[in-house]
Amino acid sequence: MNDLITIDEARRRVLSAVTRLGDEVVSLTDALGRVLAEDVSSTLPVPPFDSSAMDGFAVVAGPAAELAVVGEARAGHPFPGVVSPGQAVRISTGAVLPEGADAVVPIERTTAVKEAVSVPESAPGENVRRAGEDIPLDAVVLKAGIRLGPAELGVAASVGRAELKCAQKPKVAVLVTGDELTEPGAALEPGHIYSSNAYALNAQVHRAGGEVIQRITVPDDARGTRDALEGALEADVVIVSGGVSVGPHDHVKPALRDLGAEERFWGVSLRPGKPTWFGVRGGTLAFGLPGNPVSAMVTFQLFVRPALAAAQGAAADAPRVVATLERPIERNPHREQAVRVHLLQSQNGPTAAPTRDAQGSHVLTSMVGADGLALIAAGEGEAPAGERVEVELL
Ligand code: AMP
Ligand code: MG
Repeated sequence: MNDLITIDEARRRVLSAVTRLGDEVVSLTDALGRVLAEDVSSTLPVPPFDSSAMDGFAVVAGPAAELAVVGEARAGHPFPGVVSPGQAVRISTGAVLPEGADAVVPIERTTAVKEAVSVPESAPGENVRRAGEDIPLDAVVLKAGIRLGPAELGVAASVGRAELKCAQKPKVAVLVTGDELTEPGAALEPGHIYSSNAYALNAQVHRAGGEVIQRITVPDDARGTRDALEGALEADVVIVSGGVSVGPHDHVKPALRDLGAEERFWGVSLRPGKPTWFGVRGGTLAFGLPGNPVSAMVTFQLFVRPALAAAQGAAADAPRVVATLERPIERNPHREQAVRVHLLQSQNGPTAAPTRDAQGSHVLTSMVGADGLALIAAGEGEAPAGERVEVELL
């Protein structure tokens, strides 16, 4: 691991190995969080007709007057006739504006007089929602590549779509290695720890739109590692945590090489996360992430998440903001640091404050509540308070 590459270079190598997965049709109820694979256009205006914005009376706009009430328009039940001057139609919010009428007088501003209603002066268009005010006919309302959230699904429904073409979810195998690992819920034996990576990485894959098809804990032996990886390499993406270093009990890299995975990088100028391996076999991407829990999550965020996004045709880059450091941070002389920070609003824009002073790669609580990773350039001394740094949002 002599030549560490930069974060950016590592990401470039990952993204250049990604192939875009195919598409599939997904019903709206199942599409939350999926990446849209088509432009969605409106085949009707929304709202589809001129309608009332208030409960009240539909009228022909004019001066204050006493009008004859000739009928009613309710939501879903249009008034069948035509409104003439001197007449009014009782109307509910969302009901079609009757032919002839061009304004709605809210009920609070009227007085009922037997079969008539007394209305104040009104102007054309008052309290009327025009057809197409939200979405005109033939407009692209959702663009391919966006991630579908509640509002996007609502908009798709509003133009009548029950199904959407979405990118297939990348199938991901998550392997964690280590003789010391115990599943939460079981009793800990001496020298064992609970396998936090299995759960944190699984959740990160879900967040990134992937589907975990395999989750395996692999012991620290060459044979077991190879066997587990052999099956896992059928997935679109394989993530292995731990066992990737160069100790006598680290079997991941030799196994991956034996199985024909071609190395694209080993070692990134990053803290935490230096011992990260990336390679490719056929269409499968294989990531050997460091075992330390923070390193695993950080390297997932910086290298695996972009790959999963790109495989779905979504933007690979996570949003970044520039923030000023709230307090000084010791630089690492050789490696860029990813410091877990809270973002706070100040008069001069966002401020980044470390979530914890302890930022060791085993201090997983430093990830809890973190808004982002502040990227601190390598160098001597400290990055002073007030320095402007890029923060990759989590
Ligand atoms: P390794 O990369 O295998 O040398 O592991 C580095 C450190 O990460 C060791 O302290 C491991 O015990 C720890 N570690 C490895 N895998 C996990 C895991 N799944 N959950 C929590 N800690 C882990
Ligand atoms: Mg290990």
